Amino acid sequence: MAFIALKMRKNIFVVGLALTIFPNLCCSSGNKQVFSESKLIMGTVVQMTVATRTEQEARSAMQEAFAEIERADGLLSSYREGSLIAKLNREGHDHKVPFEKDIFDLMDEAATMSEASGGAFDLTIWPVASLWGFDKGGVLPDKGSLEDAVAKVGYRNLHLDKKNRSVGFHRRGMGVDLGAIAKGWAVDRAMARLAARGIDHAIIDAGGDLRISGSRPGKGFWRIGVQHPREPGVLLLTFDLTDTAIVTSGDYERFFIEGGVRYHHILDPVTGMPATGCQSVTVLAATAAEADAAATAAFVLGPERGISFLRSRPGVRGLIVDADGALHWTDGDLEKMARR
Ligand code: ADP
Ligand code: MG
Repeated sequence: MAFIALKMRKNIFVVGLALTIFPNLCCSSGNKQVFSESKLIMGTVVQMTVATRTEQEARSAMQEAFAEIERADGLLSSYREGSLIAKLNREGHDHKVPFEKDIFDLMDEAATMSEASGGAFDLTIWPVASLWGFDKGGVLPDKGSLEDAVAKVGYRNLHLDKKNRSVGFHRRGMGVDLGAIAKGWAVDRAMARLAARGIDHAIIDAGGDLRISGSRPGKGFWRIGVQHPREPGVLLLTFDLTDTAIVTSGDYERFFIEGGVRYHHILDPVTGMPATGCQSVTVLAATAAEADAAATAAFVLGPERGISFLRSRPGVRGLIVDADGALHWTDGDLEKMARR
């Protein structure tokens, strides 16, 4: 029998946050104060922390930013019947489905990441991901079904029509899953909302997908903790950061254990099985969408190829905890910045 090592809330599994923020919730500096709010969206706890002059300013800006994440969830979740992606997955073989510019651009970014990672990240993983059903705790698929599902995966069979901004499938049974980039993208959008309201000191954390702007009032940085992949509630290390995105993908977020084996939600598109080389990958990049997708790609590639892949991307840095718990870094500067 499967042992579900997860806390369950409305079919949603939340095992703490992959990264922890240390906001200054009590104090003001100059004329700015720090306010924080959290909500359960996109299957995870989304926490926002902003520094503003008044509470009213903070609350109304955060409300707008949360609405942006809710919109992303409504449009992008493959599991929601009414979402745009669910519609694409139902109809994309028969006719091309039109997309708004921002979502088309996201699809294009996900397709580009699929190509750049040699298919380690593959936005057409849906036939395999849906078989594992990690949204409901997960089940070990039988070999035959898994082989059928793997045969349907392949970003090269996705047709992105840039002229008409529409998307379709070359093969029947294909499906798109933006689960490895959508949270990062939503966080970027939400941060843009805060910026449009003139808020330039903030953190948005969607279950380990963080975007950071400015610094904590009275300090020159925000302190961010990276979760230890095998010791819940224990931090592996911390970074003091400003103006960046930092995202962690791990095998401890959504998983079940059966016959002593850990089955988790980051899947190797070649085998359809959970990727085995890493326990967690943390990526820093200019946007949370890029960091999110790159973290998943590096996780699938494993520690050596994953680090080379991250190094090959301008402005991207990161660290990988491999299957034995050893750390691999893209660069010595990042390693020096980390506090243990
Ligand atoms: P988290 O959502 O916990 O931050 P990820 O960003 O790594 O973790 O996303 C994992 C999700 O992405 C899975 O639940 C699945 O929907 C999808 N996914 C799994 N494997 C891949 C892959 N190789 N390429 C693209 N998407 C994937
Ligand atoms: Mg990801």
